[in-house]
Amino acid sequence: MFFFDPVWLLFVIPGLLLGIWAQIKLSHAYGKYSRVNVESGVTGAETAREILDHAGLNNVPVEEIPGRLSDHYDPAKRALFLSSENFRGRTVAAVGVAAHESGHALQHQAAYGLFNFRMAIVPVTQFASMAYAGIFFVGIIFGLLKIVLPIVIVTFAIITLFQLVTLPVEYDASRRAKEQLFRLGLVREDERAGVSKVLDAAALTYVAALVSAILNLLYYITLSRNSRN
Ligand SMILES: [Zn+2]
Repeated sequence: MFFFDPVWLLFVIPGLLLGIWAQIKLSHAYGKYSRVNVESGVTGAETAREILDHAGLNNVPVEEIPGRLSDHYDPAKRALFLSSENFRGRTVAAVGVAAHESGHALQHQAAYGLFNFRMAIVPVTQFASMAYAGIFFVGIIFGLLKIVLPIVIVTFAIITLFQLVTLPVEYDASRRAKEQLFRLGLVREDERAGVSKVLDAAALTYVAALVSAILNLLYYITLSRNSRN
């Protein structure tokens, strides 16, 4: 018996639409400010280097990686990776993204509680992300939904918790980024708004991910209640 629940769409579509809207907004803001050069003339790589060195993080390397917006800070390697566009770019967008990723390195250095907590739950979240869909479908195929639903709910709660913790970590990294950019004179007063627009748009994609996770979790909880009746 194949199982399709139209109610699921009610829970999934709002998160999906929000996600698409956030991606469009990010694409728009990033595209716009990738064409606006910073007055200071620094590249994203130079920006990150400057912020890291200023914080005494001379041992954190800044490396170039392929892909669009593939920029990230790797806490295990204690290294910062910037996409070519942001590594080489001398634009408001490149400098903003590079500063944001440096912000994560600053969080790590400061042992910022939520950053550490997020890092600690990465392995269990990765496992939960892989496991929940499989468990759910096994439950449907073998008619064991009642038994597997509590497990699905727990695994999805872990995913939701991860998204919930990610949000303040991302906003905090952007806050640290802007603080350093202005303190070190890497962006001018009139370039602030552009940096904020790019970083706020990026943060919105995490808001969308959180909303999607919460709605999915609510769906599984609803399903569990209905299956008990
Ligand atoms: Zn980030």
